[in-house]
Amino acid sequence: MLKRILVANRGEIAVRIIRTCHEMGIETVAVYSTADAQSLHVQLATMAICIGPAKAAQSYLNQTAILTAALETGCEAIHPGYGFLSENDEFAELCTRCGLKFIGPSADVIRQMGNKAAARSLMIQAGVPVVPGSQGILENAEQALEQAQQIGYPVLLKASAGGGGRGMRRVFAPEELASALAAAQAEAVACFGCGDMYLEKLILSPRHIEFQIMADQHGNVVHLGERDCTIQRKNQKLLEESPSRVLTPALRQAMGQAAVKAAQCCGYEGAGTVEFVLDAHGNYYFIEMNTRIQVEHPVTEMVTGRDLIREQLRIAAGLPLSFSQSDIQLQGHAIEVRINAEDPTKGFAPAPGRTEFLHLPGGCGVRVDSALYAGYELSPYYDSMVAKLIVHAPTRLLAIRRMRRVLEELIITGYPTGADLAHMILYHPDFLKGEYSTAFLEEHLEQLLEWLETGWLPKTQEES
Ligand code: ADP
Repeated sequence: MLKRILVANRGEIAVRIIRTCHEMGIETVAVYSTADAQSLHVQLATMAICIGPAKAAQSYLNQTAILTAALETGCEAIHPGYGFLSENDEFAELCTRCGLKFIGPSADVIRQMGNKAAARSLMIQAGVPVVPGSQGILENAEQALEQAQQIGYPVLLKASAGGGGRGMRRVFAPEELASALAAAQAEAVACFGCGDMYLEKLILSPRHIEFQIMADQHGNVVHLGERDCTIQRKNQKLLEESPSRVLTPALRQAMGQAAVKAAQCCGYEGAGTVEFVLDAHGNYYFIEMNTRIQVEHPVTEMVTGRDLIREQLRIAAGLPLSFSQSDIQLQGHAIEVRINAEDPTKGFAPAPGRTEFLHLPGGCGVRVDSALYAGYELSPYYDSMVAKLIVHAPTRLLAIRRMRRVLEELIITGYPTGADLAHMILYHPDFLKGEYSTAFLEEHLEQLLEWLETGWLPKTQEES
């Protein structure tokens, strides 16, 4: 087993990784920026090294500083968490060259999956269903028009290097295409430094269903069921659950097998997520593969009883998967709500500040993943997510009730969060019935905010 690793991340995920490492007897080296000197991950790690100023480009994305820290402290491996360098193929390659194990798949696999247009082609070869779309990168607006005509409107323009919902535009008619392409391309260049675009058919009212997979170095690949991440704001996930209300056992099996195939066809290693959109008729289409641990991994841990970080570390050490496909049974129901320091009444604008008072909920079937403590000052330089609340209960309804209770207990003062809005979602009749699409929040935001403002809770239909 590994003896010492460097955690190249911050916030809740760094804390999450450090906790499992310490349970396994693995020492941890935290890295931090000058803005993060008082952060929890720095306190919890075996040792900590400052790698640069607040700006991520000079610290958490500073490959040389991170590699130097790992080598100087005698680490054997680097866990990249999510975000930052986790899907950077260059960094994965540099780790290998420095004799450090990058905890994740090979640089080649990261490169291939990070290029969404290339990943699509690979899935087509592997026989995994993909959304009808363009062949490779669009050359210009004329070609985009031609391809959109063939596929049929509406279409979705997507950045090949995209992530976090950026560089995407919906197009409903040919006359909108050229300007949408220019706007999406400009956004993609600004966010990812690459303006390569492709287009897909826009699936109307879809669900976002993703499958967690785990692959070891010996060719074993297992999926750990799905997560339903349909509740999103601006194409970013807000609430995730497992199992999904809309999957039949047969559909679960088919999609799970497709996810395993996706991992097998690229020689995958470690934890990964295969994302699909599911239309109203039960057709599912691959949209992308994330080659890292995801924010929402705890819901899978709750229903499968497996520690995914532990499994990542075992795989990195060369051990075989500790379970086979038949060992994986989804027990009960889990829901995660992301608590972001943002103002839902102002278009979800980030709103960092000082954590004046904090009470984190607890109790039966409750897990809180957070690096927050009272007095902690949020840095405007990083992501606005401050906590993940996760509940587990025997049924979906009981999990919903538990999450409502958890959100009622949570107290964070000093800045606004989306907690109350999430609370309202858990009372919405469509959410309770499980009848909604990725457009849920867009369609109901006004109503939910009105409920919030007036303090009025709708009569729920949950007992029916
Ligand atoms: P990102 O990497 O930026 O998160 P994704 O490809 O994962 O981009 O897509 C983000 C979200 O956009 C998905 O969860 C889904 O809600 C929506 N989406 C993506 N592709 C399609 C599509 N072809 N049709 C409809 N919705 C889509």
